[in-house]
Amino acid sequence: LKSPLTSIHGLAETLLSGAVDDRANNRRFVQLIEEDATRLARLIDDLLSLSQLEAQPAPLKLSRVELKPLVESVIALLNPGVKQRRLRVVCDLPGDLAVQADVERLRQVVSNLLDNAIKYNRDEGEILISATREDGWVKVTVADTGIGIPAKDLPRIFERFYRVDKARSRELGGTGLGLSIVKHIVEAHGGQVSVASQLDQGSIFSFTVPLAS
Ligand code: ADP
Repeated sequence: LKSPLTSIHGLAETLLSGAVDDRANNRRFVQLIEEDATRLARLIDDLLSLSQLEAQPAPLKLSRVELKPLVESVIALLNPGVKQRRLRVVCDLPGDLAVQADVERLRQVVSNLLDNAIKYNRDEGEILISATREDGWVKVTVADTGIGIPAKDLPRIFERFYRVDKARSRELGGTGLGLSIVKHIVEAHGGQVSVASQLDQGSIFSFTVPLAS
């Protein structure tokens, strides 16, 4: 939280002490302020989600959720990033698969995983979303063809603020909180998260959620 705030402060001071009339740079300074403010807002959103989940775990509003339409609606929302990176997204989910979950929280899980699969992919890469049924549970998998995660970092990837490459994550608008929110929500449903990854080949994130009866 401190570094974007320090940056906004510094830039505003620079503008006030004369740079506002420096036509070569003033727009650039305001642009930087806008970028830092966006980063700050994202951090605060993620921190609020996480502290809400931890402090007073609001009871899950469980209902029957059809998986395929939910995933498709998240893909539609993230479409600008998909287009920009020219990615191919394949949603290989059976139409009749339903889970017992809190729909908004589940949406956040899918959204965070897909957002990462886009951010850390390569241009013209692929994302495959699939699911399998295993006695009373559904295992949802999001696989990408991106930069992958070094084996030494894998055990820590779900920790809050843990990022393999801080500069890269920041540049892509990351906060380091997305996966810890995913883990929290999945575990609140009694499920589990897992990850497998190969450097420069891609990553496979999975989570389990109860099958709807
Ligand atoms: P961030 O906001 O930095 O993306 P996350 O908690 O979502 O935070 O992820 C933590 C870190 O895990 C990321 O900074 C990145 O280093 C790594 N990571 C997450 N998802 C992927 C992925 N699909 N491919 C490669 N690295 C990933």
